[in-house]
Amino acid sequence: MCGLSRFLRGLLFTCYKVLVEETLSVRQQEIFIMTPFTISLAQASYDNLDLLDSFDVIVLGGGPAGIAASTTAAEKGHRTLLIERLGFCGGAAVSGMSGTICGLYNSVEDPEAAQPQQIIFGFAERMRRALDIENGLTTPQIYGKTWVATHDCATYKKVATDLLRTAGVNILYHTEMVDVLKKDKTICGLILHTRSGFCKVRGKRFIDCSGDADIIFRSGLTTTKGNNGVIQNPSMMFKVGNVDVDRYLDYWGSDTISPPKVVDKLEKRKELIRKKVWLFPTVNPGEILVNGTKITGFDGRALDVTNPVDHSEAEQFSIYQAKEFFKFLKEEIPGFANAYFIDYAQEVGVRQTRTISGIDTLVNNDVVTAKKRKDSIARSSWPIELHYGSKPKTEWLIDDYYDVPFGALVPSEGHNIIVAGRCLSAEHEALASCRVTAQCFEYGRAAALATDISLLASLDYRKIDGNQIADLMRDDGYSEAGLIF
Ligand SMILES: Cc1cc2nc3c(=O)[nH]c(=O)nc-3n(C[C@H](O)[C@H](O)[C@H](O)COP(=O)(O)OP(=O)(O)OC[C@H]3O[C@@H](n4cnc5c(N)ncnc54)[C@H](O)[C@@H]3O)c2cc1C
Repeated sequence: MCGLSRFLRGLLFTCYKVLVEETLSVRQQEIFIMTPFTISLAQASYDNLDLLDSFDVIVLGGGPAGIAASTTAAEKGHRTLLIERLGFCGGAAVSGMSGTICGLYNSVEDPEAAQPQQIIFGFAERMRRALDIENGLTTPQIYGKTWVATHDCATYKKVATDLLRTAGVNILYHTEMVDVLKKDKTICGLILHTRSGFCKVRGKRFIDCSGDADIIFRSGLTTTKGNNGVIQNPSMMFKVGNVDVDRYLDYWGSDTISPPKVVDKLEKRKELIRKKVWLFPTVNPGEILVNGTKITGFDGRALDVTNPVDHSEAEQFSIYQAKEFFKFLKEEIPGFANAYFIDYAQEVGVRQTRTISGIDTLVNNDVVTAKKRKDSIARSSWPIELHYGSKPKTEWLIDDYYDVPFGALVPSEGHNIIVAGRCLSAEHEALASCRVTAQCFEYGRAAALATDISLLASLDYRKIDGNQIADLMRDDGYSEAGLIF
């Protein structure tokens, strides 16, 4: 049976089972039934494909990590290609409207009585400053025991485009990486699918910033998913306009996280499955960004969005949850009575899929015990923000931070590939902290600095000294003034 008919048969079978079966345990088996995917086609079939071009560095994915990685690699003088399936950069921060830069600031017991201290600089600071200059970023807003800054997605696209073009990055939008060309254990190119069909590109080094560890997965290298396959739920973000912001702030308070009186109201709404939510005033007058939905299947089952059937169901369920939540805001929250629904995010926001098995791993205990490291590529004071169940769990790290090790970006197998962003090697709850965008920018920068060394010294990524990368990161403002610990 050919790959396509096998795929369609799996799809039909799963749809049928979705209709007739109810329990979570049976549904988990369905995901298993969905897996006769052909991960890789015969490498010989790629010989006849046109070669588009060859590059020193190929970066997959234009999210926060990919923007930083490709800009930095090009600035180091390497011929760099960035591949992105959408028509713009920003990843979940823009297409998923994730909306704020988290992870920039320290955490304290009482943010009302304190001033935010920035703890991470480097590329995160470049983006923060560039957004700020273009009036695309709010001043710090209280989020529980720390602060965030809400970005404007349109400005984010512009700022990212400026950075990439100025650095001389070659960009291929509307292009999806679908497979990997390998010689023994070395990756030599990628197979791309474009509007004109398939083609291939060749590269010396690869930085996987796909969020889903797509190159790693398609290379047959080890990946894992969440807590024994259970991952955090997605959310559909949306924006509303014409809000009386003063009235809403009078009622809601200065913390962007819902106060107990709002949680009580949410508890009474059976149709809304998330009971703790965040609202962010944006740079635009009367506009509020809403992070208020939890996305499951229509029957309440947890979804795995690497499965196309689940991903499609997530997008559909999102439409209804977001609209129900908007209705709640209009009916229950002062200041929203005359609000209108601006739009959904372009796609459902995905927090977690595959993570790699690295030569080092950020473990849950490292976060909880604020572990410091010499080979640190980023520090973080962001809580464990675990989206699972009706109320996301937030576990704070007050007046302290932990370090993310360089080795979490380096796969334990493979020679010329490194990752950056949310697919780094981290345990489930650790990932729920270290996945936010300020840190993702720094992972991208670290991966590009390592790529520079790897190319210049012809070194396998696994042979690169993490302390050396940490030193380079520090030289470039990683621990500037403002660090208070
Ligand atoms: C609902 C939600 C709310 C969030 N809120 C916040 C927040 O307020 N603040 C914050 O800092 N963080 C937030 N986050 C987390 C943050 O947005 C992500 O963790 C971060 O964007 C991850 O960055 P990344 O570069 O690793 O991957 P992504 O942002 O996921 O980017 C990956 C990119 O790779 C592209 N891609 C993937 N596979 C392929 C392929 N095969 N071919 C071509 N292109 C490909 C994708 O299109 C995408 O653009 C939120 C996340 C979600 C889902």
